Amino acid sequence: MKTLAATLCTSPRCRRTPDKSDVDPRPAADGLRTCWVCRDRTAELLAAVPSLYAECETMLARTTGTFEKVGGSTTPGLPLDLGVADVRADILGVLAAWASLVVDERGLVPLGLGTVASLAQFLDGHLDWLAAHPAAGDWCDELADLVRRADRVLDPDTTRRSLVSTCVMDDCPGQLWALLRDVDDTRPSAITCDAEQSHTWQPDRWLDLGTYLKFRAVA
Ligand SMILES: [Zn+2]
Ligand SMILES: [Zn+2]
Repeated sequence: MKTLAATLCTSPRCRRTPDKSDVDPRPAADGLRTCWVCRDRTAELLAAVPSLYAECETMLARTTGTFEKVGGSTTPGLPLDLGVADVRADILGVLAAWASLVVDERGLVPLGLGTVASLAQFLDGHLDWLAAHPAAGDWCDELADLVRRADRVLDPDTTRRSLVSTCVMDDCPGQLWALLRDVDDTRPSAITCDAEQSHTWQPDRWLDLGTYLKFRAVA
């Protein structure tokens, strides 16, 4: 494992340089081709996928219903609806493709037609193996891209962004933004840094962050 330990994280979304023009990847974790931050970030993204998929379903059902009522025709929906349908199809397609890669290369029993939830659960059981795979960087990248696209097509108006402060992490040039969701939005609200995605505070840690910011302001 000596050769692998010396390599860098292959995720194209690993740590970015301060001017965001390039990546400055962390060293890969022992035996993996990504760092632990990217591996864990992928686990978080994967866990979010089933609910994003369900939200796409809900949104499509809602818009289809509206169109039937209003137009009474089979005219395709607005570009936004097509976007949701695309993302929904891609979520299933991307998870199914990675699951079949795992099944093929690990010699497992084929899964058959899985739901997004069952595919996500299956892939979650192989996260370390995927992080050690030659395509680990693509895996991180595709998953992050799916979640970003889903977030963008799903009720973009229900997310409000407001500036909190400069990032509190050592030497980080980023700004912290609060992403506030509507109360009926199932996605979590969070405070995130625009320079480094691992600098994220979930609501249960906002109190700690607030105390620290107050302390920093008077220090
Ligand atoms: Zn990384
Ligand atoms: Zn930061």
